[in-house]
Amino acid sequence: MSRQRFDAIAESRKRDRVSVDEQGRRSELFANNVFNSERMLQYLTKDALASVQSAIFSGSKIDRKIADQVAEAMKCWAIEMGATHYTHWFQPLTGATAEKHDAFFDLMPDGRALEKFGGGQLVQQEPDASSFPSGGIRNTFEARGYTAWDPTSPAFVYDTTLCIPTIFVSYTGEALDNKAPLLRALGAVDEAATAVARYFDKTVVKVNATLGWEQEYFLVDKELAFSRIDISLTGRTLVGHSAAKGQQLDDHYFGVIPLRAINFMKELEVECMRLGIPLKTRHNEVAPNQFELAPVYEEANLAVDHNLLLMDVMDRIADRHHLKVLFHEKPFADINGSGKHNNWSLATDTGVNLLSPGSTPMKNLQFLTFFINTIKAVDTYEELLRSSIASAGNDHRLGSNEAPPAIFSIFVGKQLSSVLDELEGVSKGKLSPEEKTELKLNVVGKIPEILLDNTDRNRTSPFAFTGNKFEMRGVGSKTNCAKPMTILNTIVAKQLQEFKKEVDALVDKKSLKKDEAVFNVLREYIKTSKRIRFDGDGYSDEWEKEAKRRKLSNNKNTPQALQVLTSKESLNLFESMGVMSEKEVVARQEVELEAYILHIQIEGRVFNELVYNHIIPSVIEYQNILIKNVLGLKEIYGAVHRKLTDGQSGIIEQIAEHVTELKKQTDAMIDARRKANKLTDTHKKAFAYCDNVKPYFDEIRMHCDKLERLVDNRFWPLTKYRELLSIK
Ligand code: ADP
Ligand code: MG
Repeated sequence: MSRQRFDAIAESRKRDRVSVDEQGRRSELFANNVFNSERMLQYLTKDALASVQSAIFSGSKIDRKIADQVAEAMKCWAIEMGATHYTHWFQPLTGATAEKHDAFFDLMPDGRALEKFGGGQLVQQEPDASSFPSGGIRNTFEARGYTAWDPTSPAFVYDTTLCIPTIFVSYTGEALDNKAPLLRALGAVDEAATAVARYFDKTVVKVNATLGWEQEYFLVDKELAFSRIDISLTGRTLVGHSAAKGQQLDDHYFGVIPLRAINFMKELEVECMRLGIPLKTRHNEVAPNQFELAPVYEEANLAVDHNLLLMDVMDRIADRHHLKVLFHEKPFADINGSGKHNNWSLATDTGVNLLSPGSTPMKNLQFLTFFINTIKAVDTYEELLRSSIASAGNDHRLGSNEAPPAIFSIFVGKQLSSVLDELEGVSKGKLSPEEKTELKLNVVGKIPEILLDNTDRNRTSPFAFTGNKFEMRGVGSKTNCAKPMTILNTIVAKQLQEFKKEVDALVDKKSLKKDEAVFNVLREYIKTSKRIRFDGDGYSDEWEKEAKRRKLSNNKNTPQALQVLTSKESLNLFESMGVMSEKEVVARQEVELEAYILHIQIEGRVFNELVYNHIIPSVIEYQNILIKNVLGLKEIYGAVHRKLTDGQSGIIEQIAEHVTELKKQTDAMIDARRKANKLTDTHKKAFAYCDNVKPYFDEIRMHCDKLERLVDNRFWPLTKYRELLSIK
């Protein structure tokens, strides 16, 4: 009998709650460990400070002398903060973050020991990065990629290391990470949105994309999590019968947060405060053991970095609390999975949220311009946006009836729908003074500053307007937000560029007034992007049929969803916006497909081990006890034993049938895996894993779960759902 499960349960019951010192006021802790503008003011000369600030604001280059000064300042500050090492912190295509630590400590030729850190080390570094995925851009033998300082995301001290956010590029200049394309996309949207915002306000010189993510996650006792190889190796339970009590009662949602969880959250929040991650909300989610936290929104690049850092900090703090964080999109069957809503907007350097309705008709025309252009962008590139959130884990949510569906649509709410309907009727060309007044007073002027019906909003929409921002809801809990943010900002940038061209042409050629031209172009956009607007129930079969009629894509799995990345239109888009070259896009697609293959491959192998090494041996052990019992009764009662052994025999047979089927399906899965592994083309291999290997998983699971219900609790080797999901 396997003891691991029971040992783990016993261990988990012994846990003392880890006490937490909240260390006073949050506002006083905030960003203590960050080399932000306040610190720079203390440590940098005026010139150096101005140079860094202009690099942050307009992307200007920082010269070597200044870099030396900044490095020296950072070093002094970091050492005062207790740092001994520094690292270039970057985001390889694996999706997580990477770092290689070097000590400040150095030895001089004369034997003196001292701390050293210069501009050279700040600006550029060459990690030995030969084993990060690069999709073929960088052959391993010329493993030359380098990391370069991103001054727009401030350095911070974490533990005893000074972390410097960087991009990761090959020596030939191709991005090998998720940050470089994001920065290019943010640059593109800045340029395009600034040009359009200047129609309304000439003083605008910069537009920042803003991002507020909402991170969902599960907490499981560490010992219990490690007692299961599926959780340890794949991040989710591959088998497991649902607990008698799951989320049916909805009593976890917004309920009292369990003590172990709240202590974890408190310590996490203190650490995040120091690191400048502005966490604001925490609460229980729908499923047992599921929680959510969200910060105050920030500039998108910084918000992406903060989310990645957060996930890392969560892992470390959870460990101290004897907990394991599950970031997987679907760790448990039959209860909700986890997502990461991406709230997105555009903000000017003058402090205006471009997606917020205003108090005057002019402000509202500006709002409508950005609102409608975003709708148009999503309509044109819905399939590309869908591709940005594709992953093996997220397929469990988007492909099935959970979270928003794999079909992209936009929810705008009743009030704004009627505004769009009115605008659709605007006359072509010049507008009469009466029409203008009517528009100003009764259409544009009537948009309330706070949109009421958006509080009662559609929860199943993948892309919802929520009053003063769009909320992209299909993003997976584990996903690096840089991916959806790169695509979203690129397509909006492209759309705004088109819009400006069209408006300018109407002004130049048809000599329309600017507002007339804006109304004219918006009218056409409303007409041509109608199919993407949908306020109904996203889970219904009717919507699926309707979406097909509207020719919206419905890519239910990752290999399928990723195909569009390399379509002619997509390549043109990325190239024309300066976000990614063809080579970079192809490489990214390759890396994503490989990650998918690896994921399913590992799950297949774990199934293999679970079935052959854990489940079958355990159930046979129990079956043997039943057999012994039947034989014993037969010995005592002779021919009449049948009456007494009917039940036992029935279970013996049921176990035998499931074991036979289990072996058959597992062997067939292994065979399909072997066949898939022989394929050399990454696309074909990914599809083979998706279409030929993965379908066996459900079948295998079904038999395992039936067996779980059949055998003596003491013989079941895997920690059960009710045990995993019982955090106190
Ligand atoms: P919920 O969606 O749970 O009802 P809120 O509407 O308050 O909650 O906001 C959710 C998230 O949206 C928060 O993380 C918040 O920071 C973010 N958010 C609010 N305004 C913006 C904005 N202008 N740009 C980006 N994110 C925003
Ligand atoms: Mg939300």
